[in-house]
Parts: sequence; structure tokens; C-alpha cells
Amino acid sequence: MTEPYFFDLSLGDLTALLTGWGEPAYRARQIWHGVYRSLWPDPAAFTNLPLALRDRLAEELEFSHLHPQKEQRSLDGETLKVLFHLPDGNPLETVRMRYLKRRTLCVSTQSGCAMGCAFCATGQMGFRRNLSAGEIVEQVVYFARRLAAHGERVTNIVLMGMGEPLHNYDATLEAVRRLNHPEGMNLGARRFTLSTVGLPDAIRRLAREDLQVNLAVSLHAADDELRAEMLPINRRYPIAQVMEAVRDYVAHTHRRVTFEWALIRELNDTPEQAEKLAALLRGLPAHVNLIPLNPTAGYGGQASDRARAAAFQQALERRGIPCTIRLRRGIDIQAGCGQLASHH
Ligand code: SAH
Ligand code: SF4
Repeated sequence: MTEPYFFDLSLGDLTALLTGWGEPAYRARQIWHGVYRSLWPDPAAFTNLPLALRDRLAEELEFSHLHPQKEQRSLDGETLKVLFHLPDGNPLETVRMRYLKRRTLCVSTQSGCAMGCAFCATGQMGFRRNLSAGEIVEQVVYFARRLAAHGERVTNIVLMGMGEPLHNYDATLEAVRRLNHPEGMNLGARRFTLSTVGLPDAIRRLAREDLQVNLAVSLHAADDELRAEMLPINRRYPIAQVMEAVRDYVAHTHRRVTFEWALIRELNDTPEQAEKLAALLRGLPAHVNLIPLNPTAGYGGQASDRARAAAFQQALERRGIPCTIRLRRGIDIQAGCGQLASHH
């Protein structure tokens, strides 16, 4: 039998486990505070607990599923990417970005991805497996410990690493709630951004959760023909269905939605695409993030140059659509989605 994995346990689970051992319930809270607030790496550090309990915890619980394999830092040092292996050998990666006062983590929700987007390194490697809630949570705790060593804290979390979060819905939501837990790291829901390829049923379900996370939708093309070429899932869920789910989300949450658009030269950076995109977003509280394509081994497209990116942005702004061109932070370390794992 494999031992229970600490990060997969809720506070209730941990309390049940410890009371089952004959320990008082307050021990669970003490351990919870130790791991999520004091960021202690393992039971040996829990010096406020009796030695026998420390030993039993170490013996009967698993405290880590993430085995660091390799890390890369961008030239300016502000972006750090770590490739981990899970106990079964499947890869995942997490990226930490420093920008002004922000310390943002880009977290994976799956090893690989089943959506097969043509331009995405994770899509090119295919699906390995879902991460458990704990394996999502541990990525944050891992970087929180490293940041704490410099007196810094995690400020924002984007679910934009490997995988499609809404294709691993339950574990993703459980992870967000655990990180949001007031007795734990207490990271406010508004600090989270969930990015999805656009799964309509799951977007509607998310709209009905009582959780104020930010939603980003990876649109990338404004007509079905082009979008299906780039994102095969569009054959199952065409743009109209995605947009209907987004309108439902907005009606329920009254929150602004971000649309992501990887700018690819002469493919989706044309005036026609800008016009169609503006038409799709008319009347929605929306923001467009333009990200020049990160080149990947398995895709021939080129990033738009500055002039084309600026022209696309202006075409949207002229039509009243707020948008920003995102800098490609960490491009020198292939900090794009899935790129480190698939080069390994
Ligand atoms: N599966 C989710 C979240 C992970 S991908 C999603 O697709 O939204 C996070 C973002 O990176 C998505 O907008 C995705 O389209 C984008 N992306 C993937 N590969 C990229 C690349 N090579 N260049 C630029 N953006 C890329
Ligand atoms: Fe999966 Fe997102 Fe990559 Fe598409 S872009 S393959 S949905 S991780």
C-alpha cells in the first residue's frame, strides 16, 4: 500500500488520520500551519511536535511527489523554470516570474495535454496523466519555500503551465481551494488566473462555483476554420459555443474575461482576424492578451514582428477592445508552455 500523500489531504482528512492514531485534533492544525504557513519541508522540522509523532508522520505519509530534474534561469534571472518528475516518472514543470512586486507562479495541472494544439510544446508531447490536487498544490509550496528564503512571497498564480485545467476540473478546483484555505497559505482567489482552451460545459460549471478566480480563454483565432487548424478541440466546440459559455460566465460572475492570442505571422495577425475578433468580443467585459508566438520544435509558424503586433493591437483598440502585448518573459529559457519537459 502506498502512503497517503500529504498535499492530497484536506485539513479534515488530516484531522481524521491523526485522531485515528489517538492524537488530539489540534495536532492536525499545528501540522497544517507548519507546512502551509511556516513552509517546513518535512516532519523532521516540526520541532513543536513530539519526536514519536514526527517519526510516525515521516514513516506513514508521503511529503513530496515532485522530484526536481533540471532548472533554467532566464538571462536576466527574473524567470526560473523547474522541471520535475512525478514518482511514476511523468514530467511536469513550473515557472516562477519576478516582475516588479509580483512573484507569479505558472503552475501545471496535467503531465502533458490531450488537446493537441499545434503550436504548443505540451500539446505536441501528448497526454500523460492528470495531476492530483496535491501535485498542483505542492508546486506552489515548493516555490513558496524558495521565495521565503529571500524574504519573498508568492503573489499570483496562473494555471498556464502544462495541461488543460478544465480537463482536470476536480483536482484543479480542489487545489485552488486548498491554497485559498484561511488556515493554510490563504492565497486570495482573485490572485489566481485559470486559463482554458475553451471547454464550454466546464466554463459554465466554473461560473457556478463560489470562487472569484480570473478566467482566461485561449482563443487565438476568430473563425472556426483557422481556429480548428490551430486548436483541434475547436472541431468539437466551435467558437460560437465557447463564446456562449463565456457570456454565461460573465452573466453569473460579472467578471471581466481575458482572451489569449498567440500572434503568428501572417496567420492570425491580419486585419481580417482583428476585425472578426472585435466583432466576437463586442459588448463583453473583455481584455485581449497578445503574446508573440514562442517558437517550438514541432511547429513551423513564426512570431509576429513588432510592427505587425502593434498594428494588430491598434486595430483592436480602434474598435474599443482593450488589449496588451505581453512581453515574452523567459523566452531564452523556453519558458513557454511545456517547452522544457519536451526538450528533456
Ligand atoms: N491549456 C490551457 C492553459 C495552458 S497553456 C490553455 O490552453 O489555455 C497557456 C497559454 O499558453 C495558452 O493561451 C496557450 O495557447 C499558450 N501557448 C501555448 N503554446 C504557446 C506558444 N508556443 N507560444 C505562445 N503561447 C503559447
Ligand atoms: Fe493543452 Fe493549452 Fe497546450 Fe492547447 S495550449 S495543448 S490546451 S496546454
